[in-house]
Amino acid sequence: MKKTFEQIVNTEKSATAFFRKLCWDNYRRYCIRCHSFQYYRTAQQTMRCKRCGYTFHDFTGRWISKSQIPYRQWLLLIKFFEAELPAKQITDKLTISYPTTLKALELLRLAIIANAPDSSSWLDYFYFRGKEWVDRQKKEALVGVFGIIEQQGRVKIDILKYFPMTTLITLKPKMLRDTKIFYTDACYPYVALIFHNFKGSQQYEKQDEYQETYKINGESDFWSYAKSKILKHRGISLDKFPHYLKELEFRYNHRDGDLFYLLCKYLVSFIPKADNE
Ligand SMILES: [Zn+2]
Repeated sequence: MKKTFEQIVNTEKSATAFFRKLCWDNYRRYCIRCHSFQYYRTAQQTMRCKRCGYTFHDFTGRWISKSQIPYRQWLLLIKFFEAELPAKQITDKLTISYPTTLKALELLRLAIIANAPDSSSWLDYFYFRGKEWVDRQKKEALVGVFGIIEQQGRVKIDILKYFPMTTLITLKPKMLRDTKIFYTDACYPYVALIFHNFKGSQQYEKQDEYQETYKINGESDFWSYAKSKILKHRGISLDKFPHYLKELEFRYNHRDGDLFYLLCKYLVSFIPKADNE
């Protein structure tokens, strides 16, 4: 019988058991380096592979291991994230600090990207931090552009790499109120292109209220949904923008699903390795 949230969040022990169970199919543990099922327990309560000698514990190499938050606190944090509570409110409800909450939320968003069907093309973003992209020959700043593909009620957000502003201006982008987030009309196969922190922003008047509030003819269902969510946030920074877009994709595609369970699953999934690591 599936345990209720109250049952798993009851004690630190029950919370740990819940996450541990999510890590392994039928509790069948294996060496996370060479995949051998042959291991033994060490005196320090870790496992050691008989084949390659690697020492690991249940959460080694998984997103959840990147934070020291107690597992009960993790469960509550995921519940609040599911309900879209702001980071400040989440911190007030838990016994962790504000920076720890922010870090945990970032880990959740990275885990969402890592579990997206196109995660490999997003790998760069795991290690990208608000870096400026510049075309050195033309001495021009480049802007990261994302494309929305929408089909049969599902959405996919693509990374379209970096473009110079001069190219983007020809697409006549509109700014979403004063968010510094810009979007274009449909641009096949994309229902819209979006980007953040467009430096030519002063040239663009904000959209009138009508177009922001209501879906305009032919506009994507997802983008209407995303706009209202983005406007509820008081500003999204350039380096958090890609993560936030993928969070919206996840929420939209699983709008009828069990977000809490999926997020717990993602949190104990393995962190993908970067090629240059
Ligand atoms: Zn091994």
